[in-house]
Amino acid sequence: MKNLPSFDRSRLLATLDRLAPYMTQTLSAFVAAQSPSGAEQPAAEFLEQTLLDLGLDSERIVLNSSLIESLPLFSCPCDPDNGRYNLLARHLPRSRGGRSVLFNGHLDVVPTGPESLWTQPPYVPWVKDGWLHGRGAGDMKGGLICALVAYKALHELGLQPAGIVGFNAVLDEENTGNGTLATLHALQNALAKARLTDFDAVVIPEPFGETLMSAQVGVCWLFIEITGKPAHVAYMNQGINPIEAGIAIMADLKQLESEWNAPAQRHPLFRDAAHPINFNLGRIEGGEWNSSVPCTCTLGLRFSFFPGMTAEEATRQVTQRIRATAARVNAALTVDIRSRGHVSPGCEYDLDAPAMQVLADAHRKITGAPPERLACTATTDGRHFALMTDIPVTVYGPVARNIHGIDEAVSLDSMKRVAATMAQFMVDWCGVEPLVA
Ligand SMILES: [Zn+2]
Repeated sequence: MKNLPSFDRSRLLATLDRLAPYMTQTLSAFVAAQSPSGAEQPAAEFLEQTLLDLGLDSERIVLNSSLIESLPLFSCPCDPDNGRYNLLARHLPRSRGGRSVLFNGHLDVVPTGPESLWTQPPYVPWVKDGWLHGRGAGDMKGGLICALVAYKALHELGLQPAGIVGFNAVLDEENTGNGTLATLHALQNALAKARLTDFDAVVIPEPFGETLMSAQVGVCWLFIEITGKPAHVAYMNQGINPIEAGIAIMADLKQLESEWNAPAQRHPLFRDAAHPINFNLGRIEGGEWNSSVPCTCTLGLRFSFFPGMTAEEATRQVTQRIRATAARVNAALTVDIRSRGHVSPGCEYDLDAPAMQVLADAHRKITGAPPERLACTATTDGRHFALMTDIPVTVYGPVARNIHGIDEAVSLDSMKRVAATMAQFMVDWCGVEPLVA
């Protein structure tokens, strides 16, 4: 192509060095735009403006649970729809000849825990020793900013992708995945300006240390409401304690967890993982008074299972164990098990697909070594693309630490490498053309 400014990696890396303050400032403001699951509006508004500043118009894809509730990957919502929306911005090339990519990432973040445990308040981001700290810095606002910085870096080099590049920021990834489900439904059913056929590849920059994801476990949430019989503690034998029953139920579920982790039970891609299946008691509520046998106890459970097992089958086995333990503890206990939050099957990713090989090669060009492959012990929104479409997809994002913990942080050096890899990927996969004057 005539007049195409030359692309070379040393100029790209120098440009990314120049963009370091932009990257840090933009991510800091993004983190400060608090966006717990169910209340992501501030982050959506911030990102909408940031995309606009890059010349990218976003369309809003409003979450409407009634449109998606019959789909197999729908999870019972944890929060009302409330008019909340995903964003989808598209770079449209002049030539239309190049291949395309969609960057997908979530806006929502998990609760911070006690602020007193944080070195600084979780929504007042700070940089120390090359790490940017704050809730959501790693999971996963940093990854979304990497994609924006990669795109901006090409602009600074006088280039733009010669194929469509989409930026999709979604809600409710941490508890259901219904945000990405709503995006896919809109793209598949002509409810948005964009179409699913716009995209030849999907990259999700979740913070898994610059690895390419080869598979992820399935994840389900259950709320287990146990009702016993209250009594004065002086006559404890007349009561039935549902909190103690809950402890017995969790002890037995830990046994099931180790059965599923047993080498013979493992999916082959998870053979070398230290402890791939994790059953977590994440919340507990119950009781009213130290000297009363309590009435009720509710357990908030997250459990995982290997790809190949359906969410229904995993839930059936877990539910059966819960009911068997309760019956053993005391037949008079009542146990009500409700599904709210994740019903998310596991999946494998085809890393031999040409797009994924180009991504792996872009990583090699930037870092000097091929990326490691990760069989992930968490879920990501990648499952929607892997299970509902033929589009090649993987997860590839920066190094982070303490995600879902205290003093969460993302490595700024790693963000720069990931942005460089993304820019290289756009050059190699989409092609480039001169930037519109
Ligand atoms: Zn995440």
